[in-house]
Amino acid sequence: MRLQSFGAACTVTGSMHLLTLGGRRILIDCGLFQGSEEMEARNHEPYPFDPADLDAVLLTHAHLDHVGRLPLLVGRGYRGPVYCTPPTAALAETVLLDSARLQVEGYRQEIRRARRQDREHQVLPPLYDEEDVHRTLALLRPVLEFGETTTVGGARVTPHRAGHILGSAYLLLESADGRLLMSGDLGHRGGGLQPDFTPPPPADAVVLETTYANRTHRAWPETLAEFSEALRQSVRAGGKILIPSFAIERAQTILHTLKGLMDSGEVPRIPVFLDSPMAARATRTYSKFGDELGPEVRDALRSGEDPFAPSTLHVVLTPDESQRINKYDAPAIILAGNGMMTGGRIQHHLRHHLWRPATSLIVVSYQSPHSLGGQLVAGVDHVQIMGEDIAVRAQVHTIGGFSAHADQDDLLAFLDTAGSPHVWLVHGEVEAMDAFLPQLAARGLKGDIVPDRQEVDLLGDGFSGGRPPGLILDAAPSDMRLEAGE
Ligand SMILES: [Zn+2]
Repeated sequence: MRLQSFGAACTVTGSMHLLTLGGRRILIDCGLFQGSEEMEARNHEPYPFDPADLDAVLLTHAHLDHVGRLPLLVGRGYRGPVYCTPPTAALAETVLLDSARLQVEGYRQEIRRARRQDREHQVLPPLYDEEDVHRTLALLRPVLEFGETTTVGGARVTPHRAGHILGSAYLLLESADGRLLMSGDLGHRGGGLQPDFTPPPPADAVVLETTYANRTHRAWPETLAEFSEALRQSVRAGGKILIPSFAIERAQTILHTLKGLMDSGEVPRIPVFLDSPMAARATRTYSKFGDELGPEVRDALRSGEDPFAPSTLHVVLTPDESQRINKYDAPAIILAGNGMMTGGRIQHHLRHHLWRPATSLIVVSYQSPHSLGGQLVAGVDHVQIMGEDIAVRAQVHTIGGFSAHADQDDLLAFLDTAGSPHVWLVHGEVEAMDAFLPQLAARGLKGDIVPDRQEVDLLGDGFSGGRPPGLILDAAPSDMRLEAGE
């Protein structure tokens, strides 16, 4: 039972794990590297294996950092099945088509600039286009059902609820070699749209995500109270209320929360503009697979109610309509992407409104300190947006507790029912994993950090102190936590 990671090893992005199990080769996730230029350059690296030799690909969930390199894998020769849950297949279509569009648009912009500077030869081609995505979607096998065992590439695979986003699964893989749990991304228990993750069965080894292995999140009720208060203050300020949001899970969580707060009278019914075609599409997928969601949302959908539609909701599709919101001269909530404010329609809303003192910006996602969002959270008085210097007079509210990721307590609770497995840590910054190793030792569990690209025997001895040789422990965190999945 061997594992070789080509992404999400000592970092939180680009999840891609090659598993050798019972003599077969199975790839778990095939995600895009996001964040710094250095990280994104890794997307273009050749694979140290032949994609045509893989027996199967399994997906844990549809976040871009878990599925975004799939079209590239297909472009490089993979023709086999890609197994996932039905909601993951539906969301992956939305995510991959959007990714192809961004790839192609980014390339066109970059090549125009490079031509003017006579350095066209330096521009890397787009990783893939829409056609590549359609070839990839044809390979999806959305046959994985929670709690049901399927034979994949010679191994018995049982997906269980991970509670992270719609359709997210952790996987139990059983073969003659032993029993292995691949955690994918796990959710934060006790709130949000997803039911809590299912307690896992015992296993010989666990490959565990560690995004927030060194933190504890605020409890859901406190987060909701904080969000509600920020909204009331913002409504009193009388201007536009901008909420930058990721299109999957966060947008639906915010829409559902707004509906609840408006229906109960806690927040006045002002217009809500959902200005993101991708979020609108993802929301339809959430409604379609409503039976997978937590009881409150599921029951609302069954009774014919739309839990993602405050009564004042306007869904904005075209760029023209998006521009026209700026002419609407009354308080309103604008929910737009992207979540880190590094691009997307939120940028023109910020440019149009940040200088007005009556505007409120409510930040509900993690912001990298060097991004536009990070600067705004830090309280700067001027920012550069679309090449323009903008004064910041808006009120900025930061709500930190909406994370879709397990915190340290959740991760330890996940291990409670897993027996005495050897725990291999992935999908985390080195500092988070290093802080988690003593927690494992205190529970009598063997823990090791998975090294980048180096093959490990999951049932072997591991490393001295859980740290692969050469690992730099005081490495500054790369700080790109969660472009997509935070
Ligand atoms: Zn994720």
